[in-house]
Amino acid sequence: MRMQPMEVGVFLSSTGISDPFEATTKLGELGIKSAQVGFQPPEFYTSENAQKLKAHMQKNGVTPTVLFIGFVDESYASMAAVQETVGFLNPDKLDERVEVSRKAIDFAAELGCQAAAAHIGFVPADSSDPAHGKLIETMREIADYCKEKGIAFHLETGQETAEELLEFLADLERDNVFINFDPANMILYGKDKPIEALELVKDYVRSVHCKDGVWPTAEGQLGEERPLGGGQVDIPAFVAKLKEIGYTGPLTIEREAGDDRIGDILRGKELLESLR
Ligand code: MG
Repeated sequence: MRMQPMEVGVFLSSTGISDPFEATTKLGELGIKSAQVGFQPPEFYTSENAQKLKAHMQKNGVTPTVLFIGFVDESYASMAAVQETVGFLNPDKLDERVEVSRKAIDFAAELGCQAAAAHIGFVPADSSDPAHGKLIETMREIADYCKEKGIAFHLETGQETAEELLEFLADLERDNVFINFDPANMILYGKDKPIEALELVKDYVRSVHCKDGVWPTAEGQLGEERPLGGGQVDIPAFVAKLKEIGYTGPLTIEREAGDDRIGDILRGKELLESLR
């Protein structure tokens, strides 16, 4: 399964099918050759399942690229819910989540992914905040575990501005930590203009989400996701910018809303193929 530069990929769970085996079969039917893998309950992360999924993906001609770490009790329902439940900030859940992350990283490496990734939570803007120091410590532990397994770690964008992300990466001091650039998140979280942000963080971008959305209309609210091309990202400008910065990795479609996920994926694929 050789992927071409800017191969169009799909986030497995964006098919609307939660079972990764069935989702892979679907991508195979649609002729999609690259996929990011979403999170599963921790008990799924066994060596046996990794081998089975790897074989199933191979059979369907789908190459796994990045595995997203996530947790069953995270909520993206509102800005406040994200703040409270997502990533590695809640001290009561930290030990358990690091443990789950290790299992997910083992799984990602065995599956043949180049990286594990996650929304790590809102990075505290003030670096003298003890929560900031704790997050750095946690992310170093996770990055080092990835390194032990021979893979990278990608930070999902969106909950920080590009400048805050760069500062965080500099503070981390780890050479296997990069960025999964999601242009829509920049808008949905009201954080930054995606194309300008991409220019700023370009040296770190190793994977992307092709997702679209519109800016929030009120303080404290999230913007709304839209099918690719139907939001305010400016997808042609996004792909042009990726080319300009020399990005050749997959263009992975992420679609987390709407009731015609497969239709949206296919229309998104067509759009991306016309632009790349
Ligand atoms: Mg994303």
